[in-house]
Amino acid sequence: MWKPKITWPTTWRPTLPFSSNSLRRAWDGLLYVLLPNTCYSCKRDLHWQAKEPLCPACETAVKTVGPLYCLRCGKPLPDGGAHCYQCRGSKADHFKCKIIRSAVVFGPQVRGVVHAFKYADQPHLAGYLAQRMNKEWDKYVDLKEAELLIPVPLYKKKHKQRGYNQSELLAQQLAQMRGLPLDTQSLIRNRNTPSQTEFGREGRLQNMSGAFSCVNPAALKGKVVLLIDDVATTGATLEGCAEALKAAGAKKVMAYTLAREV
Ligand SMILES: [Zn+2]
Ligand SMILES: [Zn+2]
Repeated sequence: MWKPKITWPTTWRPTLPFSSNSLRRAWDGLLYVLLPNTCYSCKRDLHWQAKEPLCPACETAVKTVGPLYCLRCGKPLPDGGAHCYQCRGSKADHFKCKIIRSAVVFGPQVRGVVHAFKYADQPHLAGYLAQRMNKEWDKYVDLKEAELLIPVPLYKKKHKQRGYNQSELLAQQLAQMRGLPLDTQSLIRNRNTPSQTEFGREGRLQNMSGAFSCVNPAALKGKVVLLIDDVATTGATLEGCAEALKAAGAKKVMAYTLAREV
């Protein structure tokens, strides 16, 4: 069957002003012919009723973090061991963010979805991504301690440009799923930290030191805080947040991210 091959951004799909199921199905079918849904990774067409952003093959290729990972930073350690090189021995004591855990490995499939989520104005993807985080949550016993969820904040100008903070959307969904309180006000970003790609690991940590502060210490005092972010790379951003939260009186700071770069 002939089908127009227009690659529109799948962000916006007109919705119907009425709720009849049969009309809705007919409308969805028509939309699919006009604006086919494609997989966010391999760009193959998705089933017209597919609700998820990845095709079944890409979905299967998403790797969760296996049982062997660094007990501090959550980095997968295929050869085993309790800690990675960066977190071994007394080095672990210096970190303000005591534990980092992630749901999945930041492979090409997840990258496609996260990229659209962050840079292509597709906030609706938060639902799918938070589900992935929720699915892996229970395998990490440490997360049981969490009393308060705080998303990694964006600098206010960037937040305005993007229209939303992707980490906040994830944290909102997770707070509902887990029945935990959410605080999006107390932690703020003081400056728009330059892109971190050109820094080494030490440079990244320095770059993030002092980048965040707490405006409402009373809300954090004595709390076990769980930071929420989309991707953990070196953990420098999370460490910058943890530094501010600890200074404000938080009892313990941990982090849970959707993906882990390896
Ligand atoms: Zn695919
Ligand atoms: Zn580590």
